[in-house]
Amino acid sequence: METIVIVGGGAGGLELATRLGNQLGRSKRAKIVLIDRAPTHFWKPLLHEVASGTIDPGMHQIEYAAQAADHHFQFVRGEMICLDRFKHTIEVNAYSPQDGCEALLKRHIHYDKLVLALGAVTNFFNVQGAAAHSLTLDTVHQAEFFRKRFIMSCMQASSRRATGELPDPAVNIVIVGGGATGVELAAELCHTVRSLAEYNVHSVEASQAVRIRLLESGERLLPHLNSELSQSAAAHLRRLGVQVCTTTTVVGVDADSVHDSSGRRHDSNITVWVAGVEGQNICTRLGLSLNKAKQILVNNSLQTDLDPHVFAIGDCSSYVCPVRGRAVPPRAQVAHQQALFLARVLGRPGRDTLPHFRYRDYGSLVSIGKFAAVGVLMGAFWRRELLVGGRIARLLYQLLYQKHVLSLHGFSRMAVQMLAHWIRTKVTPPVKLH
Ligand SMILES: Cc1cc2nc3c(=O)[nH]c(=O)nc-3n(C[C@H](O)[C@H](O)[C@H](O)COP(=O)(O)OP(=O)(O)OC[C@H]3O[C@@H](n4cnc5c(N)ncnc54)[C@H](O)[C@@H]3O)c2cc1C
Repeated sequence: METIVIVGGGAGGLELATRLGNQLGRSKRAKIVLIDRAPTHFWKPLLHEVASGTIDPGMHQIEYAAQAADHHFQFVRGEMICLDRFKHTIEVNAYSPQDGCEALLKRHIHYDKLVLALGAVTNFFNVQGAAAHSLTLDTVHQAEFFRKRFIMSCMQASSRRATGELPDPAVNIVIVGGGATGVELAAELCHTVRSLAEYNVHSVEASQAVRIRLLESGERLLPHLNSELSQSAAAHLRRLGVQVCTTTTVVGVDADSVHDSSGRRHDSNITVWVAGVEGQNICTRLGLSLNKAKQILVNNSLQTDLDPHVFAIGDCSSYVCPVRGRAVPPRAQVAHQQALFLARVLGRPGRDTLPHFRYRDYGSLVSIGKFAAVGVLMGAFWRRELLVGGRIARLLYQLLYQKHVLSLHGFSRMAVQMLAHWIRTKVTPPVKLH
C-alpha cells in the first residue's frame, strides 16, 4: 500500500489530508499521514481577529487527531527537521511537552509520495532591528501575545492618567505593511479600543489616547486591488482614526520607535510587522531548488523540479503561472486550489503523466472593520472584475471562512458550528477583555 505523507496541516495540507483520507484512506488503497508540529489547526486569515480580540481562537481550532479519526488518515505530531530523498524518509524532531521530559524521540517516517505544505513566516527584509523589536502574526500564539500586550498598554495608559503623567497620545501602535493583513488589523483595532473603553478595561479617551499608524512603502494601500478600492479603504481607515502613511519605507526598528527612509521617527509602544512572507528556514536544508524568498520551486504539476515524488503547495512553494508569467500570491485561495488539484492527482494513482495545475483568481476581499469590506470578485462565468464594498462584501468575506470549514467538515457540521458561534456572539462581549 502506497504511503502519502503530507507535512503541514494548514489551509492547504489539512484539506488535502482530509480529501485523500476520504478517497484512499477509507478504502485502504493508500496510507495517508499528516504531520504537524501543532496539535490543532487554525485558519490563518482569522489571525488579525485573534490579535484584536474579536474572536476566541479556541472556538475555531480543529484537533488534528479528531479530524484524522473522522477522515481516515493518520496524524503524527512533530516538527519535520530533515528530508532524505534517496531513502524516501523524513525525520521528525523529538517532542517535549512543557515540563521538559522527552515524550517522543526523533522518528523517521517513510513515504512513497511527499507533499510539503509548510506555510511561510514573516519576511523582515533584513531591516535593522525589525526581527528583534517587532511582533508578528504567524501563529495563534503570536496573535494572542500581541492582544495581551495591546490590552496591557491601554491599561497602563489608564493608570498613568490617574497620576497625571499621561503623554499624548498614550499608546502608539505602528503597523508596518499596508497589504490586506495590515489594513484588516488596523480597522479591527479601532473597534477593539472603543469596546475596551465601553467595558472600563481602560478609562482613556479611545480616539485621542491610542494612535494607530499604518506604514506602507508603496504609493497606496492594498496594491493588489485597484486604486479605487485602495482609496476607499484608506478613506475608511482615516475616518476610523488610523494615520495612513504611504511611500514610507521603514529602514530601522528599535524598542520604542520605527524609522523611515526620509529620516522620520515614529514613536511606537508596539510595532507589528506584516510586510511580507518568506519560506521557513527548514526549506533551505531540504536540498530542493528555492526562489529568493526561500520558497520551493515547483513545476506545472506542483512537483519539485529535482524530485517528482516530492510535491509542494501553498505558501512554502513558488508556482509560476504560465498564463500570467509570474508566481501566484501566498494566499489561502491558492493553497485551497492546489490542495484540490493534488487530491485529484494523487487520488487516482497509476498515471504516467500528471495533468497541469491551473490557478484561477476568484478575486480578493479585505475586511475593513465589523461591518465593511472591499474587494474584487472574478466570476466563474464572467471575466470582468466586479468591485464590491460595504456590508455585502463583509458578508462574502465571512463566507470565505465558512467555505474552508465546509471543505473540512461538510455542510451539517458547518451549519451547526455557525449557529453556535452566532449564539455565542449574543451572550459574550464583542471583544476579549483580558
Ligand atoms: C494575519 C494573516 C491574514 C491573512 N489573511 C488572508 C486573507 O484574508 N485571504 C487569503 O487568501 N489569505 C490570507 N492570508 C494568507 C493565508 O493564511 C495563507 O496563504 C495560507 O494559510 C497558506 O496555507 P498553507 O497551507 O500554505 O500554510 P499554513 O496555513 O501557514 O500552514 C502551515 C502548517 O505547517 C505547519 N508546519 C510548519 N513547519 C512545519 C514543520 N517543520 N514540521 C511540521 N509542521 C510544520 C504549521 O504548524 C502549520 O500548521 C493571511 C495570513 C495571515 C498571517
